[in-house]
Amino acid sequence: MTLNLTNTAKTYSDGTKALLPTNLKVNTGEIVSLLGPSGCGKTTLLRIIAGLETPDSGGEIWFDSDNVTDLPVERRQVGMVFQSYALFPNMSVKANIGYGLKMKKLPKADIEARVSEVLEMCQLHDYAERAVTALSGGQRQRVALARAIAPRPRLLLLDEPLSALDAALRETLRDELAILLRKFNITAIFVTHDQNEAMAIADRVAVMSQGEIVQSGTPEELYRNPNSTFVASFVGNAMHLAGKINGAKLTLKGGELLLPSDGTGCEAFVRAENIQIDRKGSLSGYIDTVTFLGTHYRLGISGVTSEPISSIFAGHKVPKIGEKINIAIEPQSILLLPSKALND
Ligand code: ATP
Repeated sequence: MTLNLTNTAKTYSDGTKALLPTNLKVNTGEIVSLLGPSGCGKTTLLRIIAGLETPDSGGEIWFDSDNVTDLPVERRQVGMVFQSYALFPNMSVKANIGYGLKMKKLPKADIEARVSEVLEMCQLHDYAERAVTALSGGQRQRVALARAIAPRPRLLLLDEPLSALDAALRETLRDELAILLRKFNITAIFVTHDQNEAMAIADRVAVMSQGEIVQSGTPEELYRNPNSTFVASFVGNAMHLAGKINGAKLTLKGGELLLPSDGTGCEAFVRAENIQIDRKGSLSGYIDTVTFLGTHYRLGISGVTSEPISSIFAGHKVPKIGEKINIAIEPQSILLLPSKALND
């Protein structure tokens, strides 16, 4: 199913403009993530799509060729998965998954067949009779997904479904969820404030800030070609190289740097993985912190710009705290972004 939102906005009764007029198209089978910091309007947008909030007049929501703007939630055929899972604690896994089908008054044999199919797909068959209270967080999350998918919804909406889990489990389940969603081949919208989660799960990421989608693209597009300083910082943590730009030259506190092109009217940004410790590098600074992260080190460096910057280091001769170092940054790895966006 294709989802199409046109001119969809939301002003709450107290005057809060939670969502500015927004257009969004999600193609059949596409997984789109709404990514943004707390309060940027992600949940509001998701709730409007679900039918849990009414958009301001003028906004329209289309499911294929059906205008569902005035259709209540129970008639939109959307499946929902929340952070809290909202499972029925007094029911078994099987009963939870079959609940929606029972409400729809499907014949018993159909319910059995559908539940068993979904149990299989979500690798939950061994737990079918178990009480949901006797499951781990990850298993509960799968039950919530299975329950949402069982009635064959037209669209699946997920609101921070992994937030309640600890960091290690989150990472495993993130990949599991990405595989499952593709297996279902369902159009899905996934809300998160975690860039890694969005990039791992979604085909396309819509980055939101202050009530609007500021850029939408594949994870690679957003990472390589952010259209604003906000997107550059939020997706992939690009760091600002604050200094004075003169043509294709940038003068920083710690030295001079060549830019990829004329940077007039722009600000320069760089990512940690593109900062190299190099004796011949044109910039100098001091090592503030050295953090071992298993496959690499993260170095905190001061003195290069007014703010400390960090670098990824995977070599053998690890610099020491307090050591004076030189760094090099390839001009091609520098992102030049319009400087007015810094005030956004
Ligand atoms: P989070 O990640 O923290 O859940 P979010 O991006 O999902 O944030 P929303 O919950 O959509 O953000 O909220 C967007 C804005 O609308 C916020 O400023 C919030 O305070 C406001 N808001 C949300 N619900 C209401 C409401 N019922 N009445 C008034 N303002 C609201």
